[in-house]
Amino acid sequence: MEKSNSTLQAFPEINSMNSQELTAFLTGIGEKPFRAKQIYAWLHQRQAADFDEMTDLSKALRSRLKETSCFTVLKPVQIQTSKQDGTKKYLYQLADGNRIETVFMKYKHGNSVCISSQAGCRMGCRFCASAIGGLVRNLTPAEMLEQVYRTEQESGERISNVVVMGIGEPLDNYENLLKFIELITDEQGRNLSQRSITVSTCGIVPRIRELADKKLQITLALSLHAPSQEKRRMLMPVAEKYDLMEVLKACDDYFAKTGRRITYEYSLIRGENDSVKDAQQLGMLLKGKNCHVNLIPVNPVKERSFKQPDEETAAAFKNKLEKNRINVTIRREMGRDIDGACGQLRKKYL
Ligand code: SAH
Repeated sequence: MEKSNSTLQAFPEINSMNSQELTAFLTGIGEKPFRAKQIYAWLHQRQAADFDEMTDLSKALRSRLKETSCFTVLKPVQIQTSKQDGTKKYLYQLADGNRIETVFMKYKHGNSVCISSQAGCRMGCRFCASAIGGLVRNLTPAEMLEQVYRTEQESGERISNVVVMGIGEPLDNYENLLKFIELITDEQGRNLSQRSITVSTCGIVPRIRELADKKLQITLALSLHAPSQEKRRMLMPVAEKYDLMEVLKACDDYFAKTGRRITYEYSLIRGENDSVKDAQQLGMLLKGKNCHVNLIPVNPVKERSFKQPDEETAAAFKNKLEKNRINVTIRREMGRDIDGACGQLRKKYL
């Protein structure tokens, strides 16, 4: 049945289509265009997981859809719930057997979900578990959407924020990322506001510039992790291609064009980038920028030897930045007890 369709991906993926594309697809298979609205609402408002849930469509139409399109639905193969803070980590299986992670987090201001943009990643950051197996493939827009929809359905909770900070480099899957944003913010669909979306990048400069020109109201987070080009290239191979100053300039221009303040992500790694001198240097680099710095004690990854700084070192680092009037928070770690670090759960099953 539709199983073979979804595995082969030889048919157009119905839940990656916007309204116009869906209308064109339906007229193409001889259906009336008004059906598009109905089916679109089933997919993106009611978050159906099967054509057979679409009970106001005739059985004949449902069969026709199964024969002519691919409907991507993710299957949770493992769900871990943190006893500490209620964080839930989902290991989802894609139609081709690949697996990705999605993390659901509860905050005072609402529920947040951290989604993956690729199966694997080719950026090679030294401290990151997702880099270990390299890139397998890009996720489709529907596979990104499904992480939100399935997690809402499974948890029974409404999600108010989406962060594209899971496995993969979103700007290395740029077209699908844009389509995902278009679909999830569609008023006829899930209707999430652009301001509720954060996209995190390791710093692919031409893509940051293209994204700035779209003038979206999403938040851009830049994975900085070092106060100098010299140190950054030791941790992040992407820095060989795009110099730190070039990346920061692109971020400044992003802010100028969109009015959206940049978030700088900085993983504190013991003995690598956590000294007072590093903080001083970082302060100089970011001084005067309208930005926010997120300090994240590095999540120890089994295959890597990186360690977290102790609390005093992290606090001293934060203080130093604050002295330079930089807006900074030390990010509370969520779900430490459930393979917290990005990519660790998936890695177990590779
Ligand atoms: N590729 C994108 C988004 C995915 S990674 C990016 O680089 O931004 C999401 C964030 O987690 C990035 O800031 C990344 O550098 C960080 N990260 C990866 N592994 C980590 C670890 N072991 N500890 C702390 N942060 C980590």
